[in-house]
Amino acid sequence: MQPMQFQLGDRLRLRKQHPCGNFDWEVVRLGADIGLRCEKCGRRVLLPRSEVERRIKQVLPRLSKTDDFFDEE
Ligand SMILES: [Zn+2]
Repeated sequence: MQPMQFQLGDRLRLRKQHPCGNFDWEVVRLGADIGLRCEKCGRRVLLPRSEVERRIKQVLPRLSKTDDFFDEE
């Protein structure tokens, strides 16, 4: 398993469900702890990077305009 690199605006689907019923989060802060914002209820949480890496089920396509993965289109 390779170490994950997060960037602001990355969208992650976690294995753990937020109490509001949502699984999808956006990365809003980087550091020793990763700040995530629930895409459904907007609540923010801070999780240790190792915790986030363990909980990720899927990395979702970014919606941000700063997205550089689709430059060819
Ligand atoms: Zn939520």
